[in-house]
Amino acid sequence: MPRKQKSPNPLEKLSEKEIEKLREIDDRLRRVVHERRTGQSRPGIQAEQTFGSITFRYETVRCGKANCTRCPHGPYWYAYWKEGGRTRSRYVGRSLPEKARAAYEAKQRARLESKA
Ligand SMILES: [Zn+2]
Repeated sequence: MPRKQKSPNPLEKLSEKEIEKLREIDDRLRRVVHERRTGQSRPGIQAEQTFGSITFRYETVRCGKANCTRCPHGPYWYAYWKEGGRTRSRYVGRSLPEKARAAYEAKQRARLESKA
């Protein structure tokens, strides 16, 4: 019976550049996990509007492509809601759905009027 050969460690074959890239990915993952855990707000959030049990956020996003020169993208609207104790999100787009937009604009108006 042949002995099971020990496979070489694939990490040893990586170039400096590849290792650097892995570190970046690792960093990014860590940050995402940390933010999820602590519930910290993301730095890219420009506006927020709650509508019923859904929170809409207008935020800039990073696509994660290493060579992207146009990051961050957006801002775009995203919807956040709780489902079974977890926060779910969905891309909305450049503009809010009609009802949420009306609520958002009403709030903006109220804010302006309270300042005047
Ligand atoms: Zn990008």
